[in-house]
This record gives sequence, C-alpha cells and structure tokens, in this order.
Amino acid sequence: MIYITRELEQQIRREGEKYYPDECCGILFGELSEQDSGSQTVKRVKSLLPVVNSFSDGERYHRFLITPETMLQAELEARRRGQDIVGFYHSHPDHPAIPSEYDRAHALPVYSYVITAVAANVAVELNSFELSSDKHIFYPEEIHII
Ligand SMILES: [Zn+2]
Repeated sequence: MIYITRELEQQIRREGEKYYPDECCGILFGELSEQDSGSQTVKRVKSLLPVVNSFSDGERYHRFLITPETMLQAELEARRRGQDIVGFYHSHPDHPAIPSEYDRAHALPVYSYVITAVAANVAVELNSFELSSDKHIFYPEEIHII
C-alpha cells in the first residue's frame, strides 16, 4: 500500500508530460513500514528526487535507466532528508501504466513502482506496482492519494 499526496502525484504527472515522448524517471522518498500482518509493506511518500534517464536518445522512449552512481547519490540525499528510498517512478509515453517485461526484470521486491501513462503529451492513468518476493510477478499496489 502506498500513500502519496496529491501534490507529489501531480508532480510525477507533470514530469511525464515534460519529458514526453521520452520516459521520465525518479525516486520516491519517504517512510517504509510493515503492516501488523507483516505480509505487506506500507509506504508514505514524502518527497521526490527526479533523476536523469541514462539511456541513449534512441532508447529513452521505452525504458529508463538509473545508474549505480545515481543510486548512491540518491541514498545520500535520502539520508540528508531523513527519509528512506521507498520506490521509483517513471512514465510510459503512449503506453498503458502497467510494467513492461524490462521493468519486471530490473525491479526489486518491496519497493513501489509508480508508473504514469502519458498519451500524446498528457498524463493519464497512474498506477503503482510491487514485485513479488520471487521476482516473477508485479502486483498492482493499492495507491491512496491524500
Ligand atoms: Zn516502464
């Protein structure tokens, strides 16, 4: 389950529109906690860190890449903000807001993966997903806009 403010949700949509027809990408900072059952994590998004999509010109339209160097910087920035990395966001230009096979192959369990679809310059649906612990399936994650 993921909680995100309307303002941050809108910011993700605006970035998707700004980088169209390429994919935007960024990191979700906030708090990570386990529910009583322990079966599902709860994330509260507190801030975003937009990062550079490191793929080359001809690739950025359908995939995103966050380099290890960028991840290290993000870890340090999260620490400075007193927050945790709780997930990632990116856009799908002219594709539905569901993870691609590439997304699944490069994802990690526990984190939230928020995807906004951008159709002809306008951000439309926005969904969140969480990878199964065996890394085989992306499950839709309940998203609460607060
Ligand atoms: Zn994707």
